[in-house]
Amino acid sequence: MKVTVDDDRCRGHGVCCSLCPEVFDLGDDGYAVVDVPEVPVEHEDAVRSAAALCPEHAITVS
Ligand code: SF4
Repeated sequence: MKVTVDDDRCRGHGVCCSLCPEVFDLGDDGYAVVDVPEVPVEHEDAVRSAAALCPEHAITVS
């Protein structure tokens, strides 16, 4: 599974980083970055939750 964050939508709430800090981080600019674009299977559920709960619908999984 792959994950991306749409920089134009992200507003830096940090929900994703709270749910899965192994994959998401907040960059120096305060917006989310994906540290691990190819999601390890053990983190897939957390990344799916982050995508569902991101207030800006900025996270895409494929
Ligand atoms: S939860 Fe969504 S808006 Fe908030 S930092 Fe993560 S990607 Fe950005």
